Amino acid sequence: MLGTMMNYPLTLTSILERASKLFGAVEVVSALPDRRVSRSNYASVATRARKLGAAFAKAGLGRGDRVGSLMWNNVWHLEAYFGVPASGCVLHTLNPRLHPDELAYIVNHGGDRMLLVDDVLLPVYERFRDKVRLERIIVVPTTGNPVPGPYESYDDFLNEADDREFPRLDENEAAVMCYTSGTTGAPKGVVYSHRALVLHAMAIALPDCFSLAQADTVLPVVPMFHANGWGLPAASIMVGAGQVLPGPNLDPASLLDLLDREKVTLAAGVPTVWLGVVDLLERCPGRWRLNPKLLVGVGGAALPESLIVAFDRLGIAVRHAWGMTELTPVGSASVPKASMSDWPAADLVALRAKQGTPLPFVEVRGVEGGREVPWDGQTMAELQVRGPWVAASYHNPPANCESWTDDGWFRTGDVVTIDPEGYIKITDRSKDLIKSGGEWISSVDLENALLGHPAVREAAVVAIAHPRWGERPLAAVVLKEACCATPAELREHLAARFSSWQLPDAIVFVPEIPHTSVGKLRKSSLREMFAGWDWDRAEGTRLP
Ligand code: AMP
Repeated sequence: MLGTMMNYPLTLTSILERASKLFGAVEVVSALPDRRVSRSNYASVATRARKLGAAFAKAGLGRGDRVGSLMWNNVWHLEAYFGVPASGCVLHTLNPRLHPDELAYIVNHGGDRMLLVDDVLLPVYERFRDKVRLERIIVVPTTGNPVPGPYESYDDFLNEADDREFPRLDENEAAVMCYTSGTTGAPKGVVYSHRALVLHAMAIALPDCFSLAQADTVLPVVPMFHANGWGLPAASIMVGAGQVLPGPNLDPASLLDLLDREKVTLAAGVPTVWLGVVDLLERCPGRWRLNPKLLVGVGGAALPESLIVAFDRLGIAVRHAWGMTELTPVGSASVPKASMSDWPAADLVALRAKQGTPLPFVEVRGVEGGREVPWDGQTMAELQVRGPWVAASYHNPPANCESWTDDGWFRTGDVVTIDPEGYIKITDRSKDLIKSGGEWISSVDLENALLGHPAVREAAVVAIAHPRWGERPLAAVVLKEACCATPAELREHLAARFSSWQLPDAIVFVPEIPHTSVGKLRKSSLREMFAGWDWDRAEGTRLP
């Protein structure tokens, strides 16, 4: 008989326990709301994570029970990232930027039983409190102020429990849950297993992705409520790299202060963040001394070639990655192959602006009209993926969910070309969403809400390129005959249901909206019509 290997479970627990033994003194720096920093380390994170897990068990939570987190990037969130899943519960990260109705929907649909919330985010919770049924609210005093009246303090909750061993888990047990925007407005829950998170952490730590080692200091600008903070908190602990968690202040100067003071070697976030950082660096030469080894990871939206060139000019290494909530989230990264070393500089910049080659174990294909298209760099097709950290279903999915093909591939909704070297390039998006500064806005939801205004006959909302946010929503509106409305009135009408950053920046009245042969809004024509829109221009103009 042939020998066999141990069937050893891949769990977050192993990552944490190894870090507490080998990297106990490695620092975790948290930037607090008042910009002071607090310092902790992996030994403390591991001890407090064990206590947190024990406290949830004592509170009556068991395997698979959901605990919501409404938190910025800080050490308490990191304790929850490990303490909740390692105790057998599921951490459900919540995006505080969402509208209260959407948050209530997500908490209820996710079945959250308890909530961890930063004190500075209590006002967000209080806006949806009446619409959810949570058993206990545990408040993290990130400001250092006493936890207000009706709420329990995180430290008291932790101290109720003993420091005890984590249970032994199966690698396929659920660890984390995160909702992603749906085109029709109903967010969809993705549930990550321990195995997916561990394999993903190993893949993103590889040299041709985020290239992580023990000597690194990692600053995830990407919020930990966005798809596992791109896996960086887990991958950093796994390799023993230090972490700098930026808290709520994500403005360019605060980030540059942290990058400089903590000598960060890897920082990652969406293009909007880096556009602001690069702009400030160029305006204030010499003010910040960044680590010469700094690598900036950019993803969540397309990295513009101009930003690559600006980073090159500043001598800062930059790397583009693509991912999705459903992919834990990283699927590909764009690093030129050794065989391309003699390429002209401009071609290399264009290559680095592509979404890159799939990580190991992520399979990709382009499918158009039911057929797989060739990797010729020309044929546009929908990108489909499969792999060990690609979701196989949503949590309680809607009946008509069409996100997976019959042969088991996930349909990304991104339209791409794949070149003969295997580099993916996103050319369009088949899903009807707008990505502004890394956050989604549903055009369909905005259109439906606009149609609810008595003066509106038809409305179409499209994503238009924006120099700072990547994309912003523009609404083209046809008014009913003999009716009038101003953009300000329509925006006020929308404000009841949407957060202010989700409102269209331009509302343009048009005589008609183009349709396809089957009567759908022809968004491509609108995108063409408004391409190059000047965001400073007066809106409300009726086009000829
Ligand atoms: P999310 O689930 O919120 O992370 O959004 C995933 C989607 O964001 C993808 O399907 C793409 O449409 C978009 N996206 C993510 N990364 C990139 C990137 N590097 N370039 C272009 N679009 C991206």
